[in-house]
Amino acid sequence: MPLDKRDLYRFPWSMNDNPIAWLEVTDICNIHCEGCYRQHISGHKTFDEVKEEVLFFKRWRNPDNVSIAGGEPLIYPHIVDLVAFISQLGIKPIILTNGMALKPELLRELKRAGLAGFTIHIDSHQNRPRWQDKSEADLNALREQYADMIAEVGGLYVIFNSTVYPSTFHEIPDVLRWGQAHIDRVHGLVFITYRTATTGDHVATDLTDREVELEKLSYVRESFHEKFVTGPEVHDLIQQHSPDFQAAGYLGGTIRHDSFKWVAGAMIGSRRQMYGSIGKQTMELAQAGHHLLKGTYLAYLAEAKIGRKVFFMWPWDPSVRRAARQWWRDIVRHPGHLFDSIYVQSIGIIQAPDLQTDGRADMCDSCPDITIYNGEFINSCRMDEYRLFGGLLSVVERQKENVS
Ligand code: SF4
Repeated sequence: MPLDKRDLYRFPWSMNDNPIAWLEVTDICNIHCEGCYRQHISGHKTFDEVKEEVLFFKRWRNPDNVSIAGGEPLIYPHIVDLVAFISQLGIKPIILTNGMALKPELLRELKRAGLAGFTIHIDSHQNRPRWQDKSEADLNALREQYADMIAEVGGLYVIFNSTVYPSTFHEIPDVLRWGQAHIDRVHGLVFITYRTATTGDHVATDLTDREVELEKLSYVRESFHEKFVTGPEVHDLIQQHSPDFQAAGYLGGTIRHDSFKWVAGAMIGSRRQMYGSIGKQTMELAQAGHHLLKGTYLAYLAEAKIGRKVFFMWPWDPSVRRAARQWWRDIVRHPGHLFDSIYVQSIGIIQAPDLQTDGRADMCDSCPDITIYNGEFINSCRMDEYRLFGGLLSVVERQKENVS
């Protein structure tokens, strides 16, 4: 079923009331990913600077979690103390990492400090030692190493995300299949569609209308002739592979009425079988209920396993009702399955900024990944435009020279 906004719950997030605070602690990284939009300019922030940013978020953002990002946050020297600082404020600390520096000892220290979970970025366009020239299916072995290491410590949330390129689009089902088979330890999968501007096709101007050297940005390349993958295309491919998958919530674009910038849902299943998805009613109750009871909207669950409690939503949510029916049919056929644990696994699809013909970009409405730059909230995906050129660029198509 193609995506239709009427079937989805529009997340009620805003600038000042948003579950995610995107905190960048360093711009240094230990690998290079093709889709990365950050470059090394300033290095590690001081611990005092970072603590101030956390307090700024707490005051102006009302976050449920702080997503500690970079660069690579696990190489930040104060990472354990930072996790403890955030946790003591009653906010969930989540680390966004490539996993390279994650070792069992550090993991245990982070858990003791109050870490809520990880988002681990793994895809085949990373310059990852010993894992080059691998397919997404090959990389499932690496994903599994991390999932197992984190499950062994227990009580931590783990999501795997990957950038989707036109060349890797068809490999999404390989990641999905692996994630579903490990639903007991993989709490979510996120697919982010790749975007770039090109020096061959685009000209950029700064706030004073002066042309700038676009090639200074890491998210610009010389040329790119493939067709960008869209969020709805990723959604349709997931549904072809898992017909029971149904998206439940979305964020639109800041310019286009028809964009699906964030699409999110959650599948219900056991290690043996997927039974279905939550629908928009459950998503709405989760957001509104969390806000009512805890005062914040929700992006990550503190307790990773919701289990069978999700079936309590069957009177209100037709999608959960279908899943519950599938579960019962399965139990009738295989009574032993009654004792299988039931899990909920989130699926997210993010469509990165899309350039428009007038030079602006269609961004994610109520951008959840807003960060702080010079005391202001800005979209983290475009922070290097501020750092290098003092503000957002206007990027238009280069006029082709008349060769006739
Ligand atoms: S607009 Fe915000 S949420 Fe969307 S890609 Fe950029 S930083 Fe992420």
